[in-house]
Amino acid sequence: MIFINPRGAPELACDHCGCRWVDRLKGTAYCYECGEEITAASIAEFQQALTEFAARSGSGDKPGP
Ligand SMILES: [Zn+2]
Repeated sequence: MIFINPRGAPELACDHCGCRWVDRLKGTAYCYECGEEITAASIAEFQQALTEFAARSGSGDKPGP
């Protein structure tokens, strides 16, 4: 599942227990709390949410030259 933090940014959370302690290693992600695998679909959904968040927040708050 996707959790939206108070700043509006998406965070990846466990589908089974809802916690956000997710151990994302290469290829596979596991929940720290219950040990369930985070599905590829959830990760894809999270990446999409991140992209949308980045597009929404624009380039205004990125440090740069
Ligand atoms: Zn869990």
